[in-house]
Amino acid sequence: MYPAEFEYFSPRTIDEALWLLVKHGEDAKILAGGQSLIPMMKLRIASPRYLIDLNRVDGLGGLREEGGRLVMGALCRHADVEASPLVGERLPIMMDAVSQTADVQVRNRGTVAGSLAHADPSGDWPAALMALDTVVTIASPRGTRTAPLDEFIVDAYTTVLGADEIVTGVSVAIPSAPCGGAYVKFEKRAGDFAVASVGVQVALDGDRCGGVSVSLGALGAMPIRARAAEALLQGQQESVDLLDRAEQLVRDASQPFDDTRGSVDYKRHLAGVLFRRAFAAAMDRARGRQVQTLHV
Ligand SMILES: Cc1cc2nc3c(=O)[nH]c(=O)nc-3n(C[C@H](O)[C@H](O)[C@H](O)COP(=O)(O)OP(=O)(O)OC[C@H]3O[C@@H](n4cnc5c(N)ncnc54)[C@H](O)[C@@H]3O)c2cc1C
Repeated sequence: MYPAEFEYFSPRTIDEALWLLVKHGEDAKILAGGQSLIPMMKLRIASPRYLIDLNRVDGLGGLREEGGRLVMGALCRHADVEASPLVGERLPIMMDAVSQTADVQVRNRGTVAGSLAHADPSGDWPAALMALDTVVTIASPRGTRTAPLDEFIVDAYTTVLGADEIVTGVSVAIPSAPCGGAYVKFEKRAGDFAVASVGVQVALDGDRCGGVSVSLGALGAMPIRARAAEALLQGQQESVDLLDRAEQLVRDASQPFDDTRGSVDYKRHLAGVLFRRAFAAAMDRARGRQVQTLHV
């Protein structure tokens, strides 16, 4: 199907893009990679009357290290992350996530910021970045504000973004060693959205788990932090009994829906299995062992 008729704008600055957003209000949509919006327009799930394309706005592309954080502009593509040696070395959890997102064509166009703004409950970036200290930068005619990712996404396909706001960047704290992270996704076919996914980021304190964060994707309306499991693991020596109890808490934290990808029971079971795999890989990486980028 063809999209409904729309008017297309290609601003050269954020100020111009914001002015267009204010002028056209709820009838306008921002276009970044177009890998979610264009399919939705073709299916007529979305029919914006005005499309404001960010792709010619200067200064929004790529990623860089700044003040101990990985800073990604609003046009940082999935493929930019995949090609980053910094991400490969310091944030393997992100490398796991990007290498399991869609296919090469989608990764060449789709953006990290667009994925967060879209807030698909099965999206890989929302799930993986929820295990990290992730902050979203938002511009509006009133200035710039920031929101931690766990406050930015408020429901399925819903964020705190107002009608006159644009995400200009996403930043992630670069964890200091010794630490490790991993993201494990279960999908029906390569390139599909997740049936369930789990991200784990661990900091070691001697041979104990120091700080631990556990995020769940496709296991609720929005990414979930398994806080009770995190609290249980914090400061503890790894053991089978501890991990059995943590796994149960991860299952309890999940809030999956029955759908064509699986039943509630099946997804809850997957949550526990994926947690064990992600935790093991994160610990191995924290201890300096080589673990290949993860694919289930
Ligand atoms: C075949 C296929 C397979 C896919 N598989 C996966 C997968 O396995 N895992 C996965 O996570 N994703 C998958 N995707 C989605 C893909 O990752 C998208 O790139 C991503 O969801 C949206 O990013 P985008 O830059 O393409 O955003 P767009 O499609 O341009 O925009 C999406 C939404 O976000 C808004 N938006 C975008 N950027 C901004 C901004 N800077 N400020 C404010 N609002 C903004 C838009 O207005 C729109 O509402 C797949 C897509 C396709 C087509």
